[in-house]
Amino acid sequence: MTFDHFPPSRAAGLDRLKAFVPHAGGDYASGRNYDISAVDSVCVSGLSPYVRHRLLRETEVLQAVLNRFSPSTAQKFIQEVLWRTYWKGWLELRPSIWGDYTYALDDQWNALQTQSGLRHNWEAACLGQTGIDCFDHWANQLIDTGYMHNHARMWFASIWVFTLELPWELGADFFLRHLLDGDPASNTLSWRWVAGAQTVGKTYLARPDNIAKYTGGRFRPQGLATYARPVEAPEKPPVTPLIPSDWIDKSLKTGMLITDEDMHPNFVLSGLPKGCASLMLDTSAARSPLMVCDRVTQFTSLSLNDANERLTGGASSTVHTAQQIVDWARKEGLEQVATAWAPVGPTATQLSKAKTLLADQGIRLVQIRSDFDSLAWPYATAGFFKFKDKIPMILNSL
Ligand SMILES: Cc1cc2nc3c(=O)[nH]c(=O)nc-3n(C[C@H](O)[C@H](O)[C@H](O)COP(=O)(O)OP(=O)(O)OC[C@H]3O[C@@H](n4cnc5c(N)ncnc54)[C@H](O)[C@@H]3O)c2cc1C
Repeated sequence: MTFDHFPPSRAAGLDRLKAFVPHAGGDYASGRNYDISAVDSVCVSGLSPYVRHRLLRETEVLQAVLNRFSPSTAQKFIQEVLWRTYWKGWLELRPSIWGDYTYALDDQWNALQTQSGLRHNWEAACLGQTGIDCFDHWANQLIDTGYMHNHARMWFASIWVFTLELPWELGADFFLRHLLDGDPASNTLSWRWVAGAQTVGKTYLARPDNIAKYTGGRFRPQGLATYARPVEAPEKPPVTPLIPSDWIDKSLKTGMLITDEDMHPNFVLSGLPKGCASLMLDTSAARSPLMVCDRVTQFTSLSLNDANERLTGGASSTVHTAQQIVDWARKEGLEQVATAWAPVGPTATQLSKAKTLLADQGIRLVQIRSDFDSLAWPYATAGFFKFKDKIPMILNSL
């Protein structure tokens, strides 16, 4: 498999950032909604596979853009990067939403086994064989490249829910199986937003004129839903306070865990002795109960190898489960395992299990959150517009 558009390394992410920075001002603001030349468009950055795995940190991306433009000239781009931060914080403050999604997905998967009509429509959507030309194009593009433009994601999700009348959870799962940037927070919460479960009474309806305008006339689909009734959703859970970040006890024999959630954990490394034992955790195959496509698992695995090479000179091996972390820590005679904070999702689930299992063996698992996340996430208590007020303060902290 080749990764022509998104080579799996930090160096490739930095190259892409460097090439994009000159376009992060006016070009981005005026062109970002157009899905015209697809993956290689310079109007959007295509940085998401790198940012999602933190091969590049948001702080680096913001800093690079602010070195070239004023905050007001690059306002639109800065806001979009901070949408990601906002979604991450929002889910971190309400982790049960991820559990609700995975339970609902299991129910939908069971329904697919017994309802042949639903299964037929779901298969057609996933194979890009619905007969709606733009939708089929985007499905195939996603399968072929691992990427979809933001506006196309909005149209696609809207058509999935309101025209094809498929459950949003199955659409979110289709994305997580194929997107190189598939992310528990940005994906789940964006699908909820389109379907009307995120902001009370607000849905997103894909309109043929809007699609025609922003695809440069490539598509003008017929027969789309003309009304978007919000899906039924339970009350949002109350905000739970952020769990405090851990600290490294320098008197203990410590090993480092590099995960698929953070492949540039410089702030953890700085607290560790040089040459300490290290291990990689890859949970990309657990992003879906179905088979996650090879492109996604290989991108993640090769990116982890890149991180391993940079951080340890290639000394670590890869595991996938909590028990394997415990086996490694015991074999290395560790008293402490240090890792970057993993936000809500499959990696955090394994780390939570590992913490309990390690504690049974008298070994500490310490999860260090970056200053940027600790500062920004607690502000994601309500809608984005409230969070937006904090952007100048967040930028000042860089
Ligand atoms: C239904 C749906 C599902 C989505 N699923 C994901 C997902 O799984 N993972 C993911 O990273 N993004 C997701 N997004 C958000 C957005 O579509 C992508 O982040 C963006 O398209 C990535 O392309 P880019 O890097 O070229 O973006 P650019 O426009 O160049 O933006 C720069 C960076 O800002 C962040 N960003 C931009 N727009 C958004 C946004 N609306 N929400 C959150 N972050 C944003 C990304 O990290 C992106 O790399 C989803 C959006 C929708 C509508």
